[in-house]
Amino acid sequence: PTREQYLEYLNKVSSRLGLVVKQHSKVVGLTSNDKDHLVHYTKKRGKIGEACAPNIVVASGGYYAPQLLGIPGEDQPNVYHYFRSELPFHNERVLVVGGRNSAIEAVNTLVEKKAEVIHSYRGARLPRKKIKPWLLPKFDKARKRGLIRTFYRTVPRSIHNKQVKLKSDGKKNMTIDVDRVFLLTGYGPDYATLKSASVPFHKRNQRPLFNPRTLETKKSGIFLCGTIVLKWQGEKASIDNTRGHGKIILNNLR
Ligand SMILES: Cc1cc2nc3c(=O)[nH]c(=O)nc-3n(C[C@H](O)[C@H](O)[C@H](O)COP(=O)(O)OP(=O)(O)OC[C@H]3O[C@@H](n4cnc5c(N)ncnc54)[C@H](O)[C@@H]3O)c2cc1C
Repeated sequence: PTREQYLEYLNKVSSRLGLVVKQHSKVVGLTSNDKDHLVHYTKKRGKIGEACAPNIVVASGGYYAPQLLGIPGEDQPNVYHYFRSELPFHNERVLVVGGRNSAIEAVNTLVEKKAEVIHSYRGARLPRKKIKPWLLPKFDKARKRGLIRTFYRTVPRSIHNKQVKLKSDGKKNMTIDVDRVFLLTGYGPDYATLKSASVPFHKRNQRPLFNPRTLETKKSGIFLCGTIVLKWQGEKASIDNTRGHGKIILNNLR
């Protein structure tokens, strides 16, 4: 499904089940007393709200923190770490950096929106087995038709206003002119909430400790659900892989 179809599906599920969703609100802490856990979340005008429950399910996903390249200019306003399909792209020159689903999906959308697309990837060829199969035919077709300028074996070194310096492996380094840059080079989960709740973490790999049979962390009553679990197990992140999590958690609530 496309991003829009997926969002529509989620909205339908949420209204069919009558879920109470607190939008535009971020969980900023999780504390506990003897009986309950207390969730602290942001409200309008900088106020902090609280909600308490004996069981908390943390389903904060694996796409919270973009993996930054650590290069000058990646915080410029025309540089993005998540794709933004609502921007005006027609006739704009857009650089997409990355070689996985996020990058390929972005390239396809940009071609559709008639942008001038430049694609940079650090490998010599795309990791095709790791890309959703239905994205590739569109990408390959556009590439064959000359609608994507590809610079493989390149990595961005710096971005200054509308100029990006690409370091090339094997060839001469180059500077390209662009209007916007999408650095779609991977994401990681945010563990701040779990850390604020003093959930124990693995010493070496710094991941939360949990029981894979119950999905409960080492802190009683705090569960992990969805992609945040898959990251730990090194499995491919997909909706199918996490379908059973809800039932497992329901069967193990305090
Ligand atoms: C480009 C792309 C394409 C994909 N396509 C597919 C596909 O076709 N099929 C498929 O099966 N999977 C696909 N996936 C993977 C799929 O999106 C994930 O497996 C799925 O969304 C994981 O669901 P989740 O609920 O665990 O986490 P998410 O969907 O990431 O949801 C986590 C939510 O928690 C919120 N959150 C995080 N921290 C806080 C906080 N502190 N306070 C409040 N809210 C917070 C986030 O804003 C987010 O809304 C794709 C992923 C990407 C990036």
